[in-house]
Amino acid sequence: MEKPANIGALKEAGYLSRSVKSEIRENLIQKIKTGQEIFPGVIGFEDTVIPQIENAILAAQDIIFVGERGQAKTRLMRNFVSLLDEYIPVVAGCEIQDDPLAPICRSCHTKLKETGLQTPIEWASRNQRYNEKLATPDVTIADLIGEVDPIKIAEGKYLSDETALHFGLIPRSNRGIFAINELPDLAEKIQVGLFNILEERDVQIRGFTVRLPLDVFLLASANPEDYTNRGRIITPLKDRFGSHIKTHYPLSRAQEVLITEQERYRLPEEEKIILPEFMKAIVAEISRQARIHPEIDQTSGVSVRVSIHNQESVIANSFRRYLRLKENFIVPRLTDLAYIAASTTGKIEMEGFGAEREDGVIAGLIDRAVLEIFNSFFADYEFSDFLANFQDSTAIIVSENIASPEYERQAKRLKGLDEMRQRLKVENAEVMASALELVLEGLHLRGKLSKERISGKLSYERSN
Ligand SMILES: [Zn+2]
Repeated sequence: MEKPANIGALKEAGYLSRSVKSEIRENLIQKIKTGQEIFPGVIGFEDTVIPQIENAILAAQDIIFVGERGQAKTRLMRNFVSLLDEYIPVVAGCEIQDDPLAPICRSCHTKLKETGLQTPIEWASRNQRYNEKLATPDVTIADLIGEVDPIKIAEGKYLSDETALHFGLIPRSNRGIFAINELPDLAEKIQVGLFNILEERDVQIRGFTVRLPLDVFLLASANPEDYTNRGRIITPLKDRFGSHIKTHYPLSRAQEVLITEQERYRLPEEEKIILPEFMKAIVAEISRQARIHPEIDQTSGVSVRVSIHNQESVIANSFRRYLRLKENFIVPRLTDLAYIAASTTGKIEMEGFGAEREDGVIAGLIDRAVLEIFNSFFADYEFSDFLANFQDSTAIIVSENIASPEYERQAKRLKGLDEMRQRLKVENAEVMASALELVLEGLHLRGKLSKERISGKLSYERSN
């Protein structure tokens, strides 16, 4: 169907104005009725966060998401775009996407008086109707609401004439969504301006009052510590949000694995990558252990991005081995975990004097994660046949620098590995190398094998 090109045609087509909240609400109702997924790609919030979002939308409330870093708050807010109409009609050339049937800005009023039903309209896509801003202490009223344009003043406009204004982000979000990240970081004065424009519908700019009855769906995010801190968000603005929805980290390790897999960087050599289940689980478990570690500052949280970037780091290191040693597949091993410091440091904050101990803390997290996953695969297994291999001075040497066929060669001399091959789904030499490292390290962490570091390599022997 051809989209109407002027106000007359739009009226003839039977277009009815509606507020952005009604629009989102009605689109949500359609999706619920037809059983469509509301927020595709958001994993782990199906039974907790998403029902609350749906209720907020049905109740036409603005929403503030409260949660630690890396809990998909920004992703959730961006997902609201999919609940907007694909296109809506706007007065052509209007800076604030005015409704052709009910414009609010002065230049549109003037234009309509002159051209009436012939006034041209444009169609704004849903992506054009979403604006996002990271709150920082230096965000100004000019950024958010607007600024007087000295050139227009010089042209003879009066200050009381809003056409002398450069509109900021919020007026430009008219009939759309405005999302503000880390709301408490906004200076109090700016929060007052934000509240006034949204609630009182007028705002003071450089001493004169601009009246703009904007239609905006307001979304915000905040860290729980800042949010509860008295005075970080001015009370009237806090009250404006009808729904305060708490986000959370993945409730299960399996969900953390799924999110990591969905979000991680894809290599052009992707078809060569084999990620054993136990390696994915260990990477996810490291973040989960970090979230309960007493030496890590839990107020800012441990983002899911730690898992994602750690997964990318271990893949990168195994990719490097694949290139150097001409391996057949890219398969991460435990010894690749030595490289996650680069992707972990800076995303976690140490408590008090913990900073110098950071490397030790990360090593401890890896140990706990490896033992946890090893036990989950072998809780009921003793390895007595396998441990019998170590009666004499037998040692098994591993390193991220040793080619996989060398592991196979060592493994051939060992008894009692059948169960391990089966449970860890060993399908080739590269996965064999990775699986053997898990078993050796797991048995070391259980106190059954000793481990020595010799010039960059690890040597596992009988424990004395
Ligand atoms: Zn306008």
